This record gives sequence, structure tokens and C-alpha cells, in this order.
Amino acid sequence: MPPKAKSVTTSSASATSKPKAVKKTSTPASASPRVSGVQTEVQFVKGVGPRLGAIFNSRGIRTVRDLLFFFPRAYEDRSRLLKISDLKEGETATVSLMVQSSRLIPTRTGRTFFDVRATDGVGSMNLKWFYLPRGMEKRFSIGAQFLATGAVKLYQGRPEIVHPEITWGSQAAATGAALPTEGSDQAHVGRVVPVYSELEGIPSRTFRNVLWEAVEKYGRDLQEDLPTRFLGRHALPPLPQSVREIHFPPPERTSGSKETAAAEITALMEFATPAHSRLIYDEFLKFEFLVLKQRLQMERKHAPVIGLEGGAKAVEDLRSSLPFELTGDQVNAVNEILGDLRQPHPMNRLIQGDVGSGKTAVSFLAAGAVLAEGGQATLMAPTEILAEQHHLGAQRLFGGRLKTALLTGKTSNAERKKILERLAAGEPLLLIGTHALIEDDVRFAALRLILIDEQQRFGVEQRRKLREKGVVPGPRGEKSHPHTLVLSATPIPRTLALTAYGDLTVSIIKQMPKGRQPIITKVIRGDARAHAYERIRQEIREGHQAYFIFPLVNESEAEGFTHLKSAVEEAQLLQREVFPEFKVALLHGQLKADEKAAVMEAFKRNEYQVLVSTTVVEVGVDVPNATVMVIEHSERFGLSQLHQLRGRVGRGSAQSYCFLFTHAKPGQNTEARLEVLEKTNDGFQIAEADLAIRGPGDFLGTQQAGALPFKMADLVRDRDWLLKARDDAQELLREDPELQKAENSSFRAYLEREGTLQAERLKTS
Ligand code: ADP
Ligand code: MG
Repeated sequence: MPPKAKSVTTSSASATSKPKAVKKTSTPASASPRVSGVQTEVQFVKGVGPRLGAIFNSRGIRTVRDLLFFFPRAYEDRSRLLKISDLKEGETATVSLMVQSSRLIPTRTGRTFFDVRATDGVGSMNLKWFYLPRGMEKRFSIGAQFLATGAVKLYQGRPEIVHPEITWGSQAAATGAALPTEGSDQAHVGRVVPVYSELEGIPSRTFRNVLWEAVEKYGRDLQEDLPTRFLGRHALPPLPQSVREIHFPPPERTSGSKETAAAEITALMEFATPAHSRLIYDEFLKFEFLVLKQRLQMERKHAPVIGLEGGAKAVEDLRSSLPFELTGDQVNAVNEILGDLRQPHPMNRLIQGDVGSGKTAVSFLAAGAVLAEGGQATLMAPTEILAEQHHLGAQRLFGGRLKTALLTGKTSNAERKKILERLAAGEPLLLIGTHALIEDDVRFAALRLILIDEQQRFGVEQRRKLREKGVVPGPRGEKSHPHTLVLSATPIPRTLALTAYGDLTVSIIKQMPKGRQPIITKVIRGDARAHAYERIRQEIREGHQAYFIFPLVNESEAEGFTHLKSAVEEAQLLQREVFPEFKVALLHGQLKADEKAAVMEAFKRNEYQVLVSTTVVEVGVDVPNATVMVIEHSERFGLSQLHQLRGRVGRGSAQSYCFLFTHAKPGQNTEARLEVLEKTNDGFQIAEADLAIRGPGDFLGTQQAGALPFKMADLVRDRDWLLKARDDAQELLREDPELQKAENSSFRAYLEREGTLQAERLKTS
């Protein structure tokens, strides 16, 4: 639809003048390029103008399209008028009223407030303003009719509304019989109305007016961009209709029989109407298509084929030399990895499994395949303690059958030089280390496999640098890339695995090695603490050891004095008052790396029976003799983090315990949260619960979570739509990857317009 003259974009020099005036002064020849329909600048929507336009712009709302995609965050039911006698405290209500009297009343603080007494024809009530928009009091002349909406309060037993929203109804009779039906009054009353997130200085009423205008005038100009067969498949409405109904749900649906109206309103509040579903599915489909496409491109790159020249056999041999049987899940993971390595394309796989489930062991086997065929591999861990532990572990499991070396910040210069020479000479070697591996002078002659432990702990850039070391000219001149295997002990909810980590293939290790007993977990509050101490004392008497973990109150305190002092004090207190007969050690973030290692080593040798530690101390530390994990102020942690901490015990065959000390009062939300841990040891179930409670930030880091481009969709609530969209995106990629077919052309146009921008943000590897 061609725009009216006043919505033609004009030179921005006119920022302060009204669009109408601009139209007169600019000739078509001198105007900037004509922009029509939903690409019209937002300031030209009726009721917006330069000032409001600037506020919208500052929030990234530049065009009418952006505005139409600024969705309500909630809805308010104003479909029914209430009588004053029906009003209940705390409820939001709309009442049709007539002014009986109005006056300014002085307050004790020397200010005034405006008070209107109004009747619905039967009873009467008061409306109050402490800040009155200018000129407003003049409109409340006796007999004037209007609708008032707001939260009802009882004052001296009588209902009143403070700062109500007013709709001046030409027809709004005091009897309440008729609702205004003229113009944009329809946007505010007699229906379920949208509620928008507050933008500075924009009252929700203004917002509603502006969106009403935008929807009325431009809503139909929105182009459908999803393939229509998908919409048909899921019975979803077209885009223009969906956008319209999301902003202004049709009143007829909420005014039918009581049941259907109630069902419709519930659906709106839960974002579960067909219109909402359509936009949710829309976001997921576009996102999944991009992620999967990116993965496809990755899969087309070249990588060395591994396994056919003795690699698979070597893995078999290493496996049979292990002092234990692999669990079924480990076997599956190994097979999946070998399947990937056989392809001439880079593996990009994530192994997920709880601490102690045997991920590292699996990754060693993968390295075995590479080394057997003359290649090199590297394993990067986030801390020196972990790197050393992996190195020792490899030696313990395989001895000389898997050649390894260790490179960390502690490695002496002479040793380092030797290692670098071995790497340059192309010796088949698994180099285990920390960030030290990334340094420029660490060069591999034949790096074919990269193993990364605790993926979230490294930045995208660090992972990329490590991978670059394995990029070499391939057999036919094109680049050859290394294979990558990422190990993560933070189970990532499936929805996040499909979105934030969508370019990784996932192997899951759920089974724990045989002989491990599930950890018994108890939430401890108040007096129960004494019993818990007694239980712990018993464990230690039997020869076991215990961890006490203290949280940081906040990040900045990690550096500060308060937290250090409290950990020191707590350790002293435990030593003196609770466990005088045992030895208590303290580990905290301000110790130097070698001091930390020394304490850890002593604890490992059971020179200390109790280790007090802040969470600064690394996960993954392996002391099988420790059977008790106590977490103080456990209500301050996310569930997944608690689960991780708990994973430090239960590593041997003895029964282990986790005590979650809390100061939260019974009945508080945190209670229910913590009880999830009492009920299950399944990290994935816990992760799902955590995602539902705390959102994706805990898993991805807030920055990456913020980069997920969903305005409407919610990874927890809309999980089912995500799975459907995923399937459909896969189908589309299979049947028409380049979107050449006519039926997919509008989808292609959308991606060409917006897709690359989104795709850049998605890269996790
Ligand atoms: P993760 O990396 O998942 O934390 P690891 O691979 O480090 O787990 O394994 C934890 C401990 O269990 C190590 O001592 C390892 O040797 C041992 N382990 C691994 N797999 C098995 C298994 N299938 N049976 C018994 N012990 C195992
Ligand atoms: Mg590990």
C-alpha cells in the first residue's frame, strides 16, 4: 500500500518540525529515497513525532516494522466494566463513571492532590492524583463521563483508584451501558489491552495509541516470510494477522460465553494464542535454519580422516588395557567420535556428563586414535591443578601406551623448549595444558585433534586461537581443519543445546561408572545443623574427608577483604568449636597457585580431614576419599552449580553425602529449589529446573544469553515449538538448502536482509 504523503521520509534536518510542515517544504526531487510501508521511519507514525521518535530510536526501534515487532509484555483484561459495588482491593478494574465533584486538597506536607468524586449511577468512589497532568482538572467538570482503569484500593472502607488511566467517552454513560467505540478509544477499553515494557517517559496509554495507529495503518503491509506450508502444517495464522492480534486481541474472542472468554484470556496471558505461537515458531524457525546452515558449512570444510590406518585398532587396544569396563554411554560416545573422525570433515562435538562420568577417559581414547596414525592432539584445561590431574590420570590409565606431555605456566623453560621441539618435529603426542597452550610459539607440526575441558571457562577467542594451530594446507590446496571435542560437566538443557550450542553435535554420558552410589543430599536448616555435624564427624572417624564450601556474596567481593576474612574465620571456628580433634585446612582465591596446589596435595594425602574453601577453588578436583560436601548459604547458588560442587564427592565406592546448609526460611521459594537436589542426582533434570528458575545466563554467561535473539519465544515455556521448528528447519535444509524454490523465496529474502547479522552472533566455536 503506498504511504500517504506525510509518511514519506524526508531530510532529517527537519527533526524539530512536524511532518506536515516538512511535506510542504520538500520537493520530491530533494527528498531522500522514498521509503514505504513498514520501512517508514517511526517518527512519522501519527502521534509519534521527533521527540518520541528519538526515544524509540534510542531503543533500536527505527522503522514501523521495528515498532510492530515491539510486542506487549503482558495483557490487562478491560473487556468488562465493573460496578463500584463489585470492586475488590488489589484488582485492576475499569469502571464507567460520571463526575459528581472535584477539588484540590492540601496535604500535610504542604503539597496538594486532586480528588474526583464520581458515581456509576448507583454507588460512588474517589479518584486521586498526586501529580496531575496539566489542564486535566478542567476536564473533570460536573457531569462529565469517562472510564477509569487502575488498581483498586480501599481507603476507610471505600474503593478508590490512585492515578487511574482515563478514557473520555463521548458515549460512556454513567449507567455503564455503553463503551466508547470511537477512534482509538478502542485501544484502551472494552477489550483486553496490551501492556508494554516501560520506555522512559512514554505512558502506556501513549504507547497503545501509537501501536493502534501503526497496526491500523501499516499492519497489512507486513510481508509473510515463512513458507506457507509450515504455517499450514501447524495451523498458524499469517504474519499480518498475528501481529495485529498480538497487540490488540480481537474483543469478540474475549466477550463470548464465560468459559470461552476465560480460556482466551488465559491463553493471552500465557502467550499461547495462535498469534503468539506463530511469532514464537517464527523466531525459532529462522534461528534454527541459520544455526543448522552454519553447521552444514562447517561440515563441508576439510579435515584429516582418522581411524582407517590403525587408529580404530589402537582405540580398541587402549580400551581393553583399561582397569575398568567402559559404561554403555562411554562406549556410545567413543563410537560417535570415531564415526566423526572417519569423515573428511571437522568433528565439532560436545560431550556432556556429570563430573566423574568418565568424559576425560573417553577423550583420551580419541587422542589415542590420532596418535596411532602419526598425528598430534592437545587437551586444554582451565587451571593448572586440572591440567596436572589430567596428565597424571592419563599416565595412570595408559602408562607409556599414550604418549603425553604437560605444558603449563609452571613448566620450566628448559622443559618447555624440549616440548616445543618435540611438537615441531611432529612427534605423535598428546599435549595437556592450560592457557599456556595458546601462546604463539607453541606450534604443532600435525595438530589434528583439540580437546577442551570445561568449555564455558574459555572464551570464543581462546578456542579459536587453539584451533588455528591445527589449520594447515590440505591435500588439494584447500585448508584442512582440526577436529574438536569439547567436554562439559555442566549439563546443558536440551533447548540450549539446540540454540546456543546448535553448531555442536552432542554426546551425552548419563550413566556413572559401576560401583558409584548416588550421593545422599539433605537440606539443613536451624537445629538440624548439629546433627549434620555429628554425621560428618562419624564419616571422618571412619577415615573419610569433608569439604566445606562458602559462597562469595558477590563477584567484587572475590577480591575483597570481607569474604577472605569470613572464610578464614569460618575455618578457625570449625577447627576450634566443631572439629577440634581433626585438622582443618583453608583454600581461597587469594592464595598463589602453588600455595593452592600444596594445600590440595596435602588434603589428597589426608593430612587434613576438612577442607574449607570458597568457590574460587576449581571444580573437577579428584579426591575419592572425600565423602562429605557441605555447602554454606546454599540458597545463594544456582542449582547446576550446587550439583557441580556436589559432584566432588561420590567419586569412590563409599556412600557420600551432601549437606545444603541454608538460612532461608521454610516456605520460601529457595526451599523448593534446593529440594530438587534432594530428589535427583540427574544433572539434566537439574539443569532444566535451573533454566526455568534462573534463565539461560547461568549456562551461557549473561553476554551470550543476551545475544539469543528471541523477543517472543521463551526457551522453557516454548520448548515444544523449538523442537518443531528444529525439525522443519532440518527439512528445509535437506530439500532446498539455498532456498531456490518459489515457495521459499520470501524466507530467503528475510534471511538476506537480516540473517548474516544474526548468524555472526551465533558462533560458539
Ligand atoms: P570426568 O572427566 O567426566 O569428570 P573422568 O574421565 O575424569 O571423568 O573419570 C573420573 C574417574 O573415574 C577417573 O578416575 C577415571 O579413571 C574413572 N573412570 C572413568 N570411566 C570409568 C569406568 N567406566 N569405570 C570405572 N571408573 C571409571
Ligand atoms: Mg573432568
